[in-house]
Amino acid sequence: MRTKVIAGNWKMNNTPAEGAELINNIKAAADAAKCEVVVCAPFIALPAAVNAAKGSRIGVAAQNLHFEDKGAFTGEVSADMLNAAGVKYVVIGHSERREYFAETDETVNKKTIKALEKGITPIVCCGETLEQRENGITFDWISMQIKLAMKNITAADAVKVIIAYEPIWAIGTGKTATDEQANEVCAAIRKSLAAIYDETTAQNIRILYGGSMNAKNAEGLLAQPDIDGGLIGGASLKADDFNTIIKFAL
Ligand code: PEP
Repeated sequence: MRTKVIAGNWKMNNTPAEGAELINNIKAAADAAKCEVVVCAPFIALPAAVNAAKGSRIGVAAQNLHFEDKGAFTGEVSADMLNAAGVKYVVIGHSERREYFAETDETVNKKTIKALEKGITPIVCCGETLEQRENGITFDWISMQIKLAMKNITAADAVKVIIAYEPIWAIGTGKTATDEQANEVCAAIRKSLAAIYDETTAQNIRILYGGSMNAKNAEGLLAQPDIDGGLIGGASLKADDFNTIIKFAL
């Protein structure tokens, strides 16, 4: 049985005080939840988020990390720094980072390896553009992203990775993949993982759906057999909506 994960990606939203307030408003739902609950805060809000989440079942994630341990990398944050701040998860390869900040499959792989080495759970994102979907290459594209992200990662480490399938055309657009579309790709990702590793390993890896998941559509998406939770942007900024989504993750 895979424990579901509901992760709120705040993106570039929430000051430390705003983040702490939001966490206070989701604590009760998180503590009553059957799933793991994670909030992905901006770097500057991480200490306040970790502090606010103390004593609750909420885990705190960063939205990025650097793959080197230290050095002349202005503006970057290392895994050791995240560990020192009490961060337990990290989002890697979000499509916004791939599109605007030159994230590549190679850096996604390096960052995933570094997070695993340092005991931080990577939430590795993949997803196709609308053009790729319309050209019928969604499965090939995602399977390539997964293969490259998981390069040189053993099966023992692979089960610690959380994959987030996020069709780019559904992120922040209000357009959601149907339950069937989302499940179909999550199932294909599991098949790719079984081909890289083995069936048991693939069955143990959590695969989330992300892309305009909200309080209204979460129940259907989270009931799909290959969807093990959600990575949620916009709806994670509103405590009521996020709390409702958490309740649907059984
Ligand atoms: C995301 O940030 O990963 C995301 C899925 O955003 P939204 O829920 O707003 O589409």
